[in-house]
Amino acid sequence: MKTRAAIAIAPETDLEIREVEVDEPRADELRVRMVASGVCHTDAIIRDQWYPVPLPVVLGHEGAGIVEAMGSDVQGFAEGDKVVIGPAFCGRCEQCLAGHPMYCVNFYDRNFGVQRPDGSKSFSDAQGPIGSHFFGQSSFAELTNVVAHGAVKVPDGVPLEILGPLGCGIMTGSGAVLNVLQPQPGSSIAVFGTGAVGMAGMLAAKAAGATTIIMVDIVPERLDFAKELGATHTVNSKETDPVEAIKEITGGGANFALDTTGVPPVFSQMTQSLATRGHGALVGAAKLGTEAPFAIGNLLLTGIKVSMVIEGDAVPKEFIPRLVSLHARGLFPFDKLIKKYPFEDINRAFADSADGSTLKPVIVF
Ligand code: NAD
Ligand code: ZN
Repeated sequence: MKTRAAIAIAPETDLEIREVEVDEPRADELRVRMVASGVCHTDAIIRDQWYPVPLPVVLGHEGAGIVEAMGSDVQGFAEGDKVVIGPAFCGRCEQCLAGHPMYCVNFYDRNFGVQRPDGSKSFSDAQGPIGSHFFGQSSFAELTNVVAHGAVKVPDGVPLEILGPLGCGIMTGSGAVLNVLQPQPGSSIAVFGTGAVGMAGMLAAKAAGATTIIMVDIVPERLDFAKELGATHTVNSKETDPVEAIKEITGGGANFALDTTGVPPVFSQMTQSLATRGHGALVGAAKLGTEAPFAIGNLLLTGIKVSMVIEGDAVPKEFIPRLVSLHARGLFPFDKLIKKYPFEDINRAFADSADGSTLKPVIVF
């Protein structure tokens, strides 16, 4: 079948929208007509080749759409179902079986291999095959074959256009907080970075009952917006030492902290801003080989814990419906982070995300 897809062809270069051929879904796949897809910082860093993902490729990994066809082995879906698509995983390794599919030992191959496990690619044009199955979905295409076990059915009445980011960016920030840090009601948390991931972490901390929520960034407009959405305090770390500020606000250190920047000095600030036996998590991505200073001499006595968190350590089939319910009740207003763009404007969406003017762009097909 023919479809239109946005193709990453070279680093720091605009995606190209082209007509391509999409093959039939395999036994374990759904063909999904995309309704919308979020744009995540991870799409940009793969376009720019921070990780060696082969080009050309159809990126996009926050897809939401409608099931149009199903492979013969697929169970639990019907034509017309509304789905949000999360990452792919193998379902058979010890991490998948232990309930942590985001740490699937085959996670890199399944999500960044940009081909099926048998080596085939879903998309092609006159110039040859084009990488598919990015995060099991390659959602920057009007029609795409997705790995069925990564798809999550959502109720009929939901606003499908805004739900795609629940499959990655929003799940990452909120999952790191709700699944890993697990702040108790009345506790304190410091979030470094007020992008979509950090803001999702903030909204989740608020939903969980944290009462001191400190947002740290270097962009004043983002900090103002964080305050509007529920931050109790903001710190501009260009002007104020965030470690001192957090210690003063919390009376000694935050119980929990989240680094969504992946910037080495910020990671260090996060570890130093924790209270005794506090728990910090890193979700921000850094180039392969990046190292961050960790003050092991000073921090030993503090008993702090630091976790590296992928995709909020979520089980998407279990977690995404909970986020949908929280949102429906007004307790998780992540829609306030979203700005919609027509498919033709996908490169403007990337640019607005990069310069910080849009928190979470969503492409509407
Ligand atoms: P974003 O670029 O919108 O947000 C990052 C924020 O950090 C920005 O507001 C920026 O101003 C701020 N920042 C940058 N340098 C800073 C500094 N020195 N001090 C304080 N703040 C600083 O990105 P996002 O969409 O929110 O994503 C955040 C990160 O999470 C990205 O690195 C992305 O690749 C990563 N990510 C990780 C996972 C995962 O599974 N771990 C999943 C999705 C995204
Ligand atoms: Zn992502």
